[in-house]
Amino acid sequence: MLLRLLAALCAVSAPLLCDFQPQWNRPIAPYRVIANLYYVGTNYLASFLITTPEGDILINPDYEQSVPVIRRSVEKLGFRFSDIKIILISHAHDDHAAGCALAKKWSGAKLMVMEGDVAEVESGGAHDFQYHQHWAPVTVDRVLKDSDKVILGGVTLVAHLTPGHTRGCTTWTTQVQENGRLYHVVIVGSPNVNPGYKLTGNKEYPEIAADYEKTFRVLASLPCDVFLGAHGIYYDMDAKLKQLGTGGGNPFVDPEGYRAYVAERERAFQTELEAQQHASSARHAPDAS
Ligand SMILES: [Zn+2]
Repeated sequence: MLLRLLAALCAVSAPLLCDFQPQWNRPIAPYRVIANLYYVGTNYLASFLITTPEGDILINPDYEQSVPVIRRSVEKLGFRFSDIKIILISHAHDDHAAGCALAKKWSGAKLMVMEGDVAEVESGGAHDFQYHQHWAPVTVDRVLKDSDKVILGGVTLVAHLTPGHTRGCTTWTTQVQENGRLYHVVIVGSPNVNPGYKLTGNKEYPEIAADYEKTFRVLASLPCDVFLGAHGIYYDMDAKLKQLGTGGGNPFVDPEGYRAYVAERERAFQTELEAQQHASSARHAPDAS
């Protein structure tokens, strides 16, 4: 019964994670986003390579089946997968993190994960509050706390805890320089309330609504020039990619798009929270008859 229900939910809802989704794993040509930051993900799963003179950083190995796709993209750009020294994730759902074990094995990199997501990564998603996931467990080499810095070869990434979507959901920020200008980069972890998430009376995750509220405060506070995220759809990747190199400036520099996205996602969260609170107070109202 549970399996049938999960299968039905998977069929109707693209963002719901259950199993490997091959339609999310199609290769696309890798490209430079800006400065030393490259896109090496699939058609739907965003992965980023940040290169430094002392080795490279990979954000999001995605599914295990994505790792060969990412490796080919890294090599097409002229880099080596074995030069990846640090692996990071947006959050511990299978479509961003199930490939951690294989990516670590192939690269020899150190895996660094936010505290709240460590149990998931080390158990292959076994304890997620919403999903029953089964992917290759992997040891986390460094446990990150909110605002911790990851530093390699002159690049500094800051791990911002943006919880709710998962307990350790992480929004990464860094700064890059291009043509003498400094740009603030934000890679959004996920502000989304997935179908089926209980924002009220959630026994598995009682503080979930307060955590989302914290996330929106954090996201609103971050300076952003280059707007990126765990999925290309967060930041209209396909449309921006069509504009890239057409001479009109870098389309990924989109501070207004970032502000609008955060505001729209916060409204969506508030609407869902109010609907769930309304439904639960209606359930608990004394019978008038
Ligand atoms: Zn997710």
